[in-house]
Amino acid sequence: MMKRVVLIPGDGIGPEVIGSCVRVINATDADIEFIKIDAGESAIEREGTPLPENVLNLIRKYKVALKGPITTPIGSGFRSVNVELRKRLDLYANIRPAKSFDGIKTRYENVDLVVIRENTEGLYVGIERYTKNESEGETIRRITKRACERIVRFAFEYAIKENRKKVTAVHKANIMKVTDGIFLNTAKEVAEEYPDIEFEDKIVDNMCMQLVTRPELYDVIVTTNMFGDIISDLCAGLVGGLGVAPGANLSEDIAVFEPVHGSAPKYAGLDKVNPTATILSGVMMLRHIGEEDSANKIMNALIDVFKEGKKLTFDLGGSAKTSEFTEYLVSKIRD
Ligand code: NAD
Repeated sequence: MMKRVVLIPGDGIGPEVIGSCVRVINATDADIEFIKIDAGESAIEREGTPLPENVLNLIRKYKVALKGPITTPIGSGFRSVNVELRKRLDLYANIRPAKSFDGIKTRYENVDLVVIRENTEGLYVGIERYTKNESEGETIRRITKRACERIVRFAFEYAIKENRKKVTAVHKANIMKVTDGIFLNTAKEVAEEYPDIEFEDKIVDNMCMQLVTRPELYDVIVTTNMFGDIISDLCAGLVGGLGVAPGANLSEDIAVFEPVHGSAPKYAGLDKVNPTATILSGVMMLRHIGEEDSANKIMNALIDVFKEGKKLTFDLGGSAKTSEFTEYLVSKIRD
């Protein structure tokens, strides 16, 4: 049966990387109809808002979306369309895998970890104000036991489903005793329900040091919103950079797949950037909707292309354009 997926090309390099991803998915003959709709700068021009209600309604209706990065507009109502989208659809779990590919030169060869980030609260709830003219201010960090419990439980259930062995909860409870105290205590409580999965906790600064020296020790990392945002970019750096880092945002029944990277406006329209992060997000989407064959075809082709190392984009030391990389990948899929 034909499956429907909402497609949001996004801003900057978004339309190029999403275009590449759709081309690659279509090359697998997956039975998918993409329903395209604009959010971000193009939506502002047409509808006066970067996140029109009909975008949210379409995602609510079809439950699955593939999204390009969206530029955060300056001086409009939303701090960030991405943050707003996650909040409005209660996409509470942000999954960001970081896995090494043979042929992508990095400091480490066998990184295979997943950052699971709480996506709806913490420092990103957007409660900020100046307390004295514009020279002093404060930002509220809101943490609830309910959100901690569901993200940590999600991480353990993910570990079981993906046959992973360890969950590491990352926090700063030594300093933020209230908010990260709630997170850490809740993580410890939930961990007791999963005796077959190893559990440990790490203070975030130590975690960053550990990740750049011994990334092979980590498996599933679960953390609050801002720490997850920062650590997942760090982990992207371990496996080749933002050009190869995919992601998914999940609620109980909705899934929005997008690369970790932003809209990189300086590269927009140059046919230059690496579409792999978006293609890998597409692979996650295909597995989510049960299109395993198509997902496997794309993964095998990517593994081949990186192993050969003949057609790589600039960020991986090559000179292939986005379109050349895409067509080469398509030729491998059709081999
Ligand atoms: P960015 O991720 O767009 O770019 C950072 C750097 O990473 C770029 O200069 C580029 O060198 C590299 N890079 C990113 N994507 C790449 C790719 N596919 N291939 C090769 N290199 C790549 O981050 P930024 O410059 O901080 O943000 C630009 C805009 O994107 C901002 O408006 C920000 O708010 C937005 N943003 C959106 C999302 C999202 O939509 N989920 C995420 C992050 C940032």
